[in-house]
Amino acid sequence: MSVSLLAACGPKKGELTSGIYLDNLDTQANPVEDFYQYACGGWMANNPLDPEHARFGTFDKLAEDNRDQMRNLIDSIVTANNATGSLAEKIAMFYNVGMDSTTLQEQGAAPIQPLLNEIANIKDREGAYQEMIALHRQGIDPYFGIFGEADFDDASMTIGWVYQTGLGMGDRDEYLKTDEVSAKHREGYLNLMSAEFALAGYDKISGLPAEALAQMVMKLETRLAKAHYDKLTNRDPYKTFHKMTTNEANAVAPNIRFNEYFPAMGVENVGKFNVAQPEYMTEVSKVLAEENLESIKAYYAWNVINTAASYLSDDFVTANFEYFGRLVSGQQQQRPRWKRVTNALNGATGEAIGQMYVAKYFPKEAKDRMVTLINNLQEAFGERIKQATWMDQATKDAALQKLGAIYVKVGYPDKWRDYSKLEVSNDSYFANILRSNRFDVDYMLSKINKPTDRDEWQMTPQTVNAYYNPTTNEICFPAGILQPPFFDLHADDAANYGAIGVVIGHEMTHGFDDQGRQYDKDGNLSDWWQPSDAENFKANAKVLADHFSAIKVLDDPETYANGELTLGENIADNGGIHLAFLAMQKAMERKQVNKEEMDGFTPEQRFFLAYANVWASNITTEQIIFLTNNDVHSLGRWRVNATLPNITEFIETWNVKEGNGMWLAPEKRAKLW
Ligand SMILES: [Zn+2]
Repeated sequence: MSVSLLAACGPKKGELTSGIYLDNLDTQANPVEDFYQYACGGWMANNPLDPEHARFGTFDKLAEDNRDQMRNLIDSIVTANNATGSLAEKIAMFYNVGMDSTTLQEQGAAPIQPLLNEIANIKDREGAYQEMIALHRQGIDPYFGIFGEADFDDASMTIGWVYQTGLGMGDRDEYLKTDEVSAKHREGYLNLMSAEFALAGYDKISGLPAEALAQMVMKLETRLAKAHYDKLTNRDPYKTFHKMTTNEANAVAPNIRFNEYFPAMGVENVGKFNVAQPEYMTEVSKVLAEENLESIKAYYAWNVINTAASYLSDDFVTANFEYFGRLVSGQQQQRPRWKRVTNALNGATGEAIGQMYVAKYFPKEAKDRMVTLINNLQEAFGERIKQATWMDQATKDAALQKLGAIYVKVGYPDKWRDYSKLEVSNDSYFANILRSNRFDVDYMLSKINKPTDRDEWQMTPQTVNAYYNPTTNEICFPAGILQPPFFDLHADDAANYGAIGVVIGHEMTHGFDDQGRQYDKDGNLSDWWQPSDAENFKANAKVLADHFSAIKVLDDPETYANGELTLGENIADNGGIHLAFLAMQKAMERKQVNKEEMDGFTPEQRFFLAYANVWASNITTEQIIFLTNNDVHSLGRWRVNATLPNITEFIETWNVKEGNGMWLAPEKRAKLW
């Protein structure tokens, strides 16, 4: 639907629209055969992929609109007369330095030369150890990184977490899988490293050919990859929580010398901390002692180059894009500079931009209506728990307690992050990125061994997304997602229940999915389930996992969805729809939803059309492969066409019959929340 059509046919004051965009439908398609095509076919035809996007969907479209709004805000700062030392001056300078293409081209690799020289000058293993710390201090994380996160034993406290990192291709499978696509990625990655080692001049500094340097890094990263847990193991909170003293951690990974490492990072008295993957840290310790020093230096140099490439001259940016953008994602064209710099600025000063964003674009009425929707969803969830036939009363009581304890965040934080210590200068774009990294590292590490700040937000207000955090038992809906087509102040609530209502229910259900259910109402990792109920849950969840694993997402190369990897998200979608639908029915009884047909659709039909519309998207083949391998969410098409056949309310609303594409026999439908 175009903006002009909306303006011309807008509702009269006090009169609500249906919230359904008829242009989004493909009425030639049959809803009982392919609901995704029926509900989203018009949208997909009207929003073809442009060369900038490997996937473009409803979420991405709204994110683009939000970025336009941020650009307006940033423009107003850049053109203003800002006081010296003010945050506005920092924002303007960061943006202007990033946008100054002429200077970026002139500087070439110069901004990373000091770090590369430092690495080239490493003389021995002690020097390599000290350089690892120096890089970690600047947010460049060879091998591993440290963060402040909740203590699973007592989530009211934040402790240090040692996390495995160190893989330039992201996931371990990229190094180890033998299929054709993975092999092509490795070839592309070697080419990228060779090209950028040469651009950076590290071949000359080190006296080794760029191709040889690339091979050395590949070998070392492959060794690290073999020691990483796989993605499914990483989804298990018990398998990734190993609290240790420094002495215990030193026994696991002696060459990290944690007793020296933490103070050098600026963390005194670290106390007990979590080593997420001890076996991996043992391997890192061996790498530090065993690998050839030149390989270690090449690996560090590559970490610097790879971190910096997006913020250097266009030759680096293009090489980076050819691998990460074109080859891996299927994106045809680089985003324009202003979008890339806006993203970087958003990363560096996200809450400062967010504060301006909500002041200008977020209406207070939106927050009030959201709070009502959330309360109605919470009430519906309570009823679903009480009615569930697969749990006994003790488990139900504990679940209801956890539900009642959910902490709700809407729009924007009550207190904003202080950026006064962030330094910005006009020397180079990458230097500003490094200063921002240091600022963030200090901020992160300052949380260790302190009470958890429950009022901190894990997303900025302008983000088009939402989250559930198990260790604070909180749901959060940033202002960025509280806009059409997710949430429409001018629409009847049937569509709002189908869109933002399901998003709310989805986030609440995360507290009770296969991961979230392992945390109690206070966010501690502790088992509140009766054993037989836990077994029922697992059996019911397996029905959903198997259902998704049977989906062929691509014919060539033949690719299947991973129902284990996406289980938590699919449980959340399944639960979210049930909760939102019940909440809508209750709202209809209270006359808060128009029971009449609007635009030819009943409220129940509007609910499912609005739900499906959230997932409208076009996508490249490369991106289908990438997301299927890496994303814990199912693809948009299957969040509709695989999720809805499990929902009896959908089957009834659209009168789906046995033999239809959207049919699933009642006994095969997942019974969870
Ligand atoms: Zn989710």
